[in-house]
Amino acid sequence: MSASFPGARLTIDLGAIARNWRTLAALDPSSECAAVVKADAYGLGAAEVVPALRAAGARTFFVAHLSEARVVRAAAPDAVIYVLNGLPPGAADAFAALDARPVLGSTEEVLEWAAFRAATGAATEAALHLDTGMTRLGLTPDEARAVLSRPPFRPALVMSHLACADEPDRPETERQRALFAELSALAPDAPASLANSAGTLLGATSGGGLGFALRRPGVALYGSNPIVGRPAPLSPVVTLEAHVVQVREAEGGTAVGYGGAERLTRRSRLAILSLGYADGVFRAAGSADGAPGAVAAFNGAFCAYVGRISMDLIAIDVTALPDPPRRGEVVEILGPRVTVDDLARASGTIGYEVLTALGPRFARRHVGCGDGALFRSGI
Ligand SMILES: *Cc1c(COP(=O)(O)O)cnc(C)c1O
Repeated sequence: MSASFPGARLTIDLGAIARNWRTLAALDPSSECAAVVKADAYGLGAAEVVPALRAAGARTFFVAHLSEARVVRAAAPDAVIYVLNGLPPGAADAFAALDARPVLGSTEEVLEWAAFRAATGAATEAALHLDTGMTRLGLTPDEARAVLSRPPFRPALVMSHLACADEPDRPETERQRALFAELSALAPDAPASLANSAGTLLGATSGGGLGFALRRPGVALYGSNPIVGRPAPLSPVVTLEAHVVQVREAEGGTAVGYGGAERLTRRSRLAILSLGYADGVFRAAGSADGAPGAVAAFNGAFCAYVGRISMDLIAIDVTALPDPPRRGEVVEILGPRVTVDDLARASGTIGYEVLTALGPRFARRHVGCGDGALFRSGI
């Protein structure tokens, strides 16, 4: 523990991220494997994650905002950077200055970009986003046909986004693939891109032809499997360890935590951990009225959360442990025993939300980029 006594420490394994990228890339060698690093690389630190991915071989990166593109540009000067949330009004100059490519998702954006290029002669590239069934961003099929029949500039990429690929039995994915194949054929010179992480994993197992020229995995790089119930060849990336503040005993029938939501069924030993929902462990992962919540792990044994999760504290049951943790020791909240997807399931959410909620209070360190070097250490 450092002199600042953080409640918990988060370790991010850059080697595992690089390994996951190589694994996904190798699933379909005929398709480029890009990397989605929006939201600060899903909460894990784009400034550290991007160089690790670049060293592994990734050269195309996707972010949501121009501010995120700046971080990627600083970390990987030669990267190709696409900005998924498109072109805000009047922002074309800023995109060109950074050599960041907007993913144009409406006719309005296409026209503004075309006007900017015509007025300035800027050579900055852009992607076209085609909506094939998500109804979020992207030109409708009719708009896409209109724009692509007389394109005002040559797009560097045409892409669409899958809405249901995390559920392999859903028929929507094949409908989206077929529509995208038809629309993207109207821009035969532009590389095409459809698959997210789930599409990348599905395309590999089902021969579904989802790869196209470029794939855009995000969450799988960070060790979370988007397809529940179907094993994926991914390495865990994050380890979150919480310090034990105290260990205490309590009689059967005693109420634990806010609202007395959980009552002990026997004399128990509890370890009180120094993290809570303010750190990003969702309150929904607590236990109440005998309905189990999440588990932590200590020395290989699982320990159930007991009662509601507080802002800064969580109680776990260590009664069954022959050698329970002591004050100042650490317990695994996430890691090799408790995966991001396990905690997500216990919280009623998805791995994406668990990752992006990991808070700023932790001591953070990045390890394991080949030589095990620490990139930045808060510990
Ligand atoms: C976030 C996002 C991705 C990556 O999705 P994952 O499910 O994390 O792999 C790909 N494409 C678009 C358009 C996105 O918004």
